[in-house]
Amino acid sequence: MAELANCINCDAVYVKTLRNICQKCYEEEEKAFEIVYRFLMPRKNREATMVDIVKATGVKEKLIIKFIREKRLRTSDFPMLAYGCERCGGNIVTGNICTDCSQELRGELDKFEEDSERSTKRKLEEEQIDVYYSYNKDRQ
Ligand SMILES: [Zn+2]
Ligand SMILES: [Zn+2]
Repeated sequence: MAELANCINCDAVYVKTLRNICQKCYEEEEKAFEIVYRFLMPRKNREATMVDIVKATGVKEKLIIKFIREKRLRTSDFPMLAYGCERCGGNIVTGNICTDCSQELRGELDKFEEDSERSTKRKLEEEQIDVYYSYNKDRQ
């Protein structure tokens, strides 16, 4: 039996495939890709920015970012195809956040792990004191 799923794009129910969007949305995305790609082909458009492309093609920025993430539009071919870092809005061409932000986040994570390690230690020590205390109390 065919498995059904909801399209993440339009919420329509469709027969589940390898894609997480329905056939209709898939076809629309393909059409959009074609339009964007065709727009970018002429040499003079190679350095078009995201804003230029959205304006010229009417394709949503979100979709263009998806094409970049899927590496269908290569930023090595189209150097201006950067999109905003989710954290600081800076230009990035891969992933969700820029290198600066990912470094910062990693630093925060390290700090957080250190902190939680310290608090587990403290908790252990407190528990030991408790055990010691109740041991002595029982003996009295
Ligand atoms: Zn759909
Ligand atoms: Zn950033």
